[in-house]
Amino acid sequence: MKALIRTISEYTDADLLLGVFSSAKAAASARAEYIARYKSGAAKDPWARQAYHAANLRTDVMVVPMRACPACLPRGRKPERLIVVSGYAEGFGQRIRTLDSAHGSPACAKKSKAKAKRKSQVKGFPAYALLQEIQLDRLACDAADEQPCL
Ligand SMILES: [Zn+2]
Repeated sequence: MKALIRTISEYTDADLLLGVFSSAKAAASARAEYIARYKSGAAKDPWARQAYHAANLRTDVMVVPMRACPACLPRGRKPERLIVVSGYAEGFGQRIRTLDSAHGSPACAKKSKAKAKRKSQVKGFPAYALLQEIQLDRLACDAADEQPCL
């Protein structure tokens, strides 16, 4: 599985999860679609201004590996909706997100939160884990209020 993410200045917000895809090809095509939307001027990039970082769609929008939970998302299973567990560390005005795993079952995703929280601890910042429901193989909205928050 692949995730499409947009890295955001840690001083502005956590990185955005823009989708989870069953193949690298589908993720690459969603990436191109996302970049084209703002490059073409068809829409205004809500993340154009970031603290201490010059936004660059080509380098900030990336396809990265996504760990599929072997317990509730066995190989070849493609549920329409996934629950993604992410760990966060927050401190000194920074918010750092670490993608942990994708799940097919909400109960299983909840059980993974403690581990994701432990793994995301950096620099002694307070850490926590959040869930994000996402549709497989679909480009998700990049609005701040569509991303998980406390
Ligand atoms: Zn699971």
